[in-house]
Amino acid sequence: MQATMMDFPLTLAHIFERAGRLFPESEIVSRMPDKSLHRYKYADFYSRAQALIAALRKLGLKRGERVATLMWNHHVHLEAYFAIPCMGGVLHTLNLRLSPDDIAYIANHAQDRFLIVDDVLLPLYDKIRANTNFEKVIVVPLSRSSVPAGLENYETLISRPRPVRLPRLKEEDPAGMCYSSGTTGRPKGVVYTHRALVLHSLASALPDVMGIGNSDTVTPVVPMFHVNAWGIPFTAVMVGAKLAFPGPHLGAASLLDLYQSEQVTLTAGVPTIWAGILQALDHEPSRWKLSAGMRMVVGGAAAPESMIRAFDKFGLRVIHGWGMTETTPVAAVNYLKRGLESAVADEQYALRAKQGVPLPFVEVRAMTGQGEAPWNGTTMGELEVRGPWVAAGYHDLDSELDKWSEDGWFRTGDVVTIDARGYIKITDRIKDLVKSGGEWISSVDLENALVGHPKVAEAAVIAVSDPKWGERPLAVVVLKPGQSATQDELRGHLAPKFAKFWLPDAFEFVAEIPRTSTGKMLKAKLREQFKDWKPGGR
Ligand code: AMP
Repeated sequence: MQATMMDFPLTLAHIFERAGRLFPESEIVSRMPDKSLHRYKYADFYSRAQALIAALRKLGLKRGERVATLMWNHHVHLEAYFAIPCMGGVLHTLNLRLSPDDIAYIANHAQDRFLIVDDVLLPLYDKIRANTNFEKVIVVPLSRSSVPAGLENYETLISRPRPVRLPRLKEEDPAGMCYSSGTTGRPKGVVYTHRALVLHSLASALPDVMGIGNSDTVTPVVPMFHVNAWGIPFTAVMVGAKLAFPGPHLGAASLLDLYQSEQVTLTAGVPTIWAGILQALDHEPSRWKLSAGMRMVVGGAAAPESMIRAFDKFGLRVIHGWGMTETTPVAAVNYLKRGLESAVADEQYALRAKQGVPLPFVEVRAMTGQGEAPWNGTTMGELEVRGPWVAAGYHDLDSELDKWSEDGWFRTGDVVTIDARGYIKITDRIKDLVKSGGEWISSVDLENALVGHPKVAEAAVIAVSDPKWGERPLAVVVLKPGQSATQDELRGHLAPKFAKFWLPDAFEFVAEIPRTSTGKMLKAKLREQFKDWKPGGR
């Protein structure tokens, strides 16, 4: 029997055209470098993005060719997000927090033809200029109207908006590309198809995922240069939501001002950002009037239970999710399944601190040396995933093929337990687990408990070598400003929650914990720093 459905490709072009037609009145707000708010509507976004398509065509951009962006989160970046893939090009977002050396490597590896860069980031461009080979550099004049000689002015380029016809795209065509930041080795490129981005957007909009709808006002704090700001710009435009971009201003007060002035209903970012927001709210609890029940999607690193509890007190709802550059990125999101709303508060919070259940069309398993781990909430194994928005390989790289199992699953490098209800709990990155006397200790569990201590701002637990046990946990702790604490106090805080052998041998107090460009703790650096650590002095 033959199916009788239309062959209709899943492409971003549909999302773009639909937004232009159905939602011309939806607003897009961006905080500019001078802190003022730029406002326009989807109708402007649509016509300016069309003008960008016409301009890129005129510059000779061909199907499948890459255009790099070096930009903060704002409306012009959104124009590039749609114009480049909808004309058949590939949007390559460069991570401006990487070292100039890495940025240049990535741009060259991806063979980016053009670059669109914020004028405020020109000093960074200057650092990569000598080692890169962009044919055209297009400058977005955010802070001044002129651009340096020899470079194109974005506004001049798109100054004559006119309707364009989009090419017929296939859903398997490449649309975007992003390099995984990684904590070791060179960054690796993932190429997203139109189909993956569209399906990811549909899934993200589901009520039990981010639940983004037309009446939402959405602030992606997660950078548009990090896995497409978790796909939120695509999802939000698909449903015609209002967008409020923070621009380069990611400080807690500036974000809270934006949440208040735009009455933001959904925002998303890494735990470091939310820790700052919490401190600001604790400090001045009645300064900001936020939209009641604002959802805060937290991912990229574990959201500690204490953080989820603290935001609840302010009437703000943390949604904990898990994903990777290789999974577009959202692959699991936490919500309380039917029946669990009546569980006691402690059980609910323990569940909400887990990384959630897999999205529809994402399949997960935890693999041990003996095969797939049972879903019992205690057996640890490496998380493997597969699905229509999971990468099947890296761009132009043959050396990492062992990241995929023989039966086609992606090996995430995350160690997890999966409980009987399907909730995934990340216990560690494989390389960060502490193995003491043959038993695994989860550094993430210890860290989450430590940041639950009222004096602790941040904590990292790393393995240090030990002649008797092989490895022992060492806690590296940053205290909140003006606080002091003793080792015994912190050990006493952990003792009721963990087996005795899990308790760190020592607590080292430091001013800050080194982080990657995307806010993850750089444990490799800490391990290096404490490699000669000995009990009682180094
Ligand atoms: P990236 O590709 O840079 O987005 O990093 C992906 C990695 O971030 C994952 O493999 C996890 O190790 C970590 N990660 C992401 N979300 C979470 C989360 N909710 N809890 C703990 N770790 C997370």
